[in-house]
Amino acid sequence: MYNETMIIIGGGAAGLTTAICSAREGRQVLLLEQNMKIGKKILVSGNGKCNIGNRYISPRRFHGQNPTFIKEVLKGYDFEVIKKFFTSIGLELIEGREGKMFPMSLQASSVVDLLEYEAKRVGVRIVCNCKVKDIEKKEHGFTLRTTQGEKQCQQLVVASGSPAAPHLGGSNAGYTFAAKMGHSLVPRHPSLVQLCSEERWVKGCAGVKVAGLAKLYANGEYITEKKGDLLFTGYGISGLAILDLSREVSTRLANFEYCELRLDLVPELGKEKLTNLLLTRVKENSEKPLSLWLQGVLNKKLIPRILEQSKCKVRTENALDRKEINRLAHAIKNLKLSISDTKGFKGAEAAAGGINTTEVDAQTMESKLVPNLFFVGEILDVDGDRGGFNFHFAWVSGMRVNNL
Ligand SMILES: Cc1cc2nc3c(=O)[nH]c(=O)nc-3n(C[C@H](O)[C@H](O)[C@H](O)COP(=O)(O)OP(=O)(O)OC[C@H]3O[C@@H](n4cnc5c(N)ncnc54)[C@H](O)[C@@H]3O)c2cc1C
Repeated sequence: MYNETMIIIGGGAAGLTTAICSAREGRQVLLLEQNMKIGKKILVSGNGKCNIGNRYISPRRFHGQNPTFIKEVLKGYDFEVIKKFFTSIGLELIEGREGKMFPMSLQASSVVDLLEYEAKRVGVRIVCNCKVKDIEKKEHGFTLRTTQGEKQCQQLVVASGSPAAPHLGGSNAGYTFAAKMGHSLVPRHPSLVQLCSEERWVKGCAGVKVAGLAKLYANGEYITEKKGDLLFTGYGISGLAILDLSREVSTRLANFEYCELRLDLVPELGKEKLTNLLLTRVKENSEKPLSLWLQGVLNKKLIPRILEQSKCKVRTENALDRKEINRLAHAIKNLKLSISDTKGFKGAEAAAGGINTTEVDAQTMESKLVPNLFFVGEILDVDGDRGGFNFHFAWVSGMRVNNL
């Protein structure tokens, strides 16, 4: 005796898409959400505007240990498919910079409201404030132990997301359920997260924002670099370039690698151009203090550290020679900051790692180990770049359950 044909654990992006698509196909669907309301992460996403997807979908914008799985899931599920789905629920989209897509209302709440309306319209039963505590495989389906009693189903979809942002419902529960069903897990690390440093000088620079370039070195070796905002904070550093680097840093810190950023504070000027600019600014008889002289080029809070790192001995403008200028230019383009940690899942927008995707069918998201068990969304070992890619994967994996 089964109460519902399909139960979905989690009322986030992936769970809601699965629910709508499955109910449209005629399934009886019950969606269980532990929060008082569905779609909490959607509501805060993109600073309340919801960066719902991206026009330029490519497998290289997604990460995980099994790139073949990612390619197969995305095949035929580009942005146009997402657009069609949202048009079908009554949501128009507009394009921002770099192909980022948003609801035309620029309100994340309209995404949740329309998803909820459509889910209910096609017959999905949504039960909030219902936390699934345990799942069990039975002969013809599954039994779930929840805070609102026991529930049974023939098909079970785990859409409970990752531990990122626990205040919004981020949880490890799905990994526990998957492991109980025999699935293996790829180690999880916070991604799209702020970085911490124990260097004292950085506190004095809190609040400074620079359009810069962050280069990542691990154990002294150059790894990669990202351009964009660098925001100095009391704990370390944030900003778009840092979020974009954070997955790499997070994974390497977990492997005990020494991570250091070298920050280019003026990426638009090459080293030679910057050196020439500094040289032309030197006035022969000027007694101007060096720190004041540098304010013509840099935010004043950054200057003490630049002077320290460049070991600049002179104290006035007229005492600068080519060697000092060369060292200053180098420090401005390579301000070193060692990274001790990340802000963890509390500060993260996503999680790298998750359920091993070699054990999941890329066409339908069904477990290869347990028939009628499905995994969708961020719980899988797939995470995307900033720019709408995480939502893209969540919507697409939800649609895949029905192979629509
Ligand atoms: C602050 C922030 C901003 C973001 N902005 C963007 C953005 O603009 N664009 C973008 O592409 N991505 C963004 N993301 C990432 C995106 O939100 C996630 O990748 C996406 O929500 C994942 O969808 P999901 O359905 O897999 O998981 P979730 O959205 O996390 O949904 C999982 C749901 O399952 C519920 N749940 C968990 N355990 C249980 C349980 N045991 N019983 C019942 N329910 C349970 C949770 O409460 C949650 O509602 C952002 C994330 C954060 C934190």
